[in-house]
Amino acid sequence: MRAPSLRPFRARVAGAYRWLGAHGLVAGSSGNVSLRVGETILITPTGIPWERLRDREIVALDLEGRVRGRGFPSSEWRLHLAIYRARPEVRAVVHTHSPYATAVACFFPALPILHDEGRILFGEEIPRAEPAPPGTWELAQSAVRALGQGSAVLLAQHGPVCVGANLRQALLLAEKAEETARLFLLAQVGDPPSLGGVVGLDSAAATERNSR
Ligand SMILES: [Zn+2]
Repeated sequence: MRAPSLRPFRARVAGAYRWLGAHGLVAGSSGNVSLRVGETILITPTGIPWERLRDREIVALDLEGRVRGRGFPSSEWRLHLAIYRARPEVRAVVHTHSPYATAVACFFPALPILHDEGRILFGEEIPRAEPAPPGTWELAQSAVRALGQGSAVLLAQHGPVCVGANLRQALLLAEKAEETARLFLLAQVGDPPSLGGVVGLDSAAATERNSR
């Protein structure tokens, strides 16, 4: 049986990356998107800003990380590959440096989920992986360990990674992770009355409560 053309899938990956840029979740050529199609991983290239990315520049890798055809994959290709190897049901991976989620990844051991909608998507928290240098197998393995069977993980001092059964789901999670991080950081300046506290500026107490 002939393998299906990758062209429409390349268009989806490029479209997803441009969508992230247009929604302020990636800037320039930061972050990366991939999609698994059978035994092929389609991933955004390295160093091409989102607004200039063309569909044909999406890079194809096999499951060993070898480039099929032309182009240079995102420097985080190991991260994507490690997740697909560990989680066969995952079909799409979205990694961004979105500002609020990255801020949480710099200063907190996890992102606690404060609101009901977030809990449906992420559970009680988005865990943070042990720090490791960008682009390394060490980072890829650390992310896989912390991700477990979850839908998202924070790379310490770096940014969030979201996984889904399809690109639409992974994009939604990337957007929601950012919204959730924003909410969490806003909540640091107060003590929501509904949680039994008194409105105030005791961020240490809020942090302690939220990180339980
Ligand atoms: Zn990154």
